[in-house]
Amino acid sequence: MRLVSFGEKGHERVGVAVDGDILDLVTADVSLPDSVVGILEQDAFDAVARAVESGRGTRISEEGVRLGAPITRPSKIVCVGLNYHDHAAEQNVSLPEHPLLFSKASSSVIGPYDEVVLPEACKQVDYEVELALVIGCQATRVTEADAYDYIAGYTVANDVTGRDIQFRQRQWHQGKSYDTFCPVGPYLVTKDEIPDPNTLDVRLMLNGETMQDSNTDNLIFNVPTMISRISHAMTLFPGDIILTGTPAGVGIFRDPKILLKAGDYMETYVAGIGTLKNNVK
Ligand code: ZN
Repeated sequence: MRLVSFGEKGHERVGVAVDGDILDLVTADVSLPDSVVGILEQDAFDAVARAVESGRGTRISEEGVRLGAPITRPSKIVCVGLNYHDHAAEQNVSLPEHPLLFSKASSSVIGPYDEVVLPEACKQVDYEVELALVIGCQATRVTEADAYDYIAGYTVANDVTGRDIQFRQRQWHQGKSYDTFCPVGPYLVTKDEIPDPNTLDVRLMLNGETMQDSNTDNLIFNVPTMISRISHAMTLFPGDIILTGTPAGVGIFRDPKILLKAGDYMETYVAGIGTLKNNVK
């Protein structure tokens, strides 16, 4: 199942992507929650499936509507830095013994096709394709064996980063958190559709040229390890998003460097999940 948020920014409704259309869920069953997070919190997947099967409700062509991030305002976004073997190699740094955690402000989240706006304060803005995990139910000190029970599904994120701000501060929060620095979506793909998230191709194209091209089998800490380790540090809530790290090919470590500029176009892809398409302004 592919859950979406659709409609005007700040007024998104919950839908399901079905054959190129978006089913407006609440018009199919008024008793359903009116947000993706609500569906997770109430574990309403069976009711959503019945609503889809019923054939009731309004369908809108996916092309004719704005999509928001499936989780428009997560309670938190936890990111894992330096989590790909190839990304550690391009920086010539040793592999981390523990997941390196940082966070992005939830206010940085935008929809999958919204514009990324370069702030005046950042002179070196970079892209990062990432597989994103969406938490389905409250998770505290979860074992690796149980980790998948706490995942609702997967989506795609671009961890846009102000490198100059990131490197001049010892904390990464500001450089990672400018408004529009976290395109997410287009769908929350439920975990039943992705048999193994640790073997997915990930790719980022800038103006049609491939910049990052890797696979989640290059992850240093894989999906169940991340869920277990993060949930031992903090309780995760339904709708929380985990950005699992980015592979080699980011702009800052290229020679010459490639930094985002107005007019650029990014396509951020994870196999089986979807593609973000964002213009840079
Ligand atoms: Zn990242």
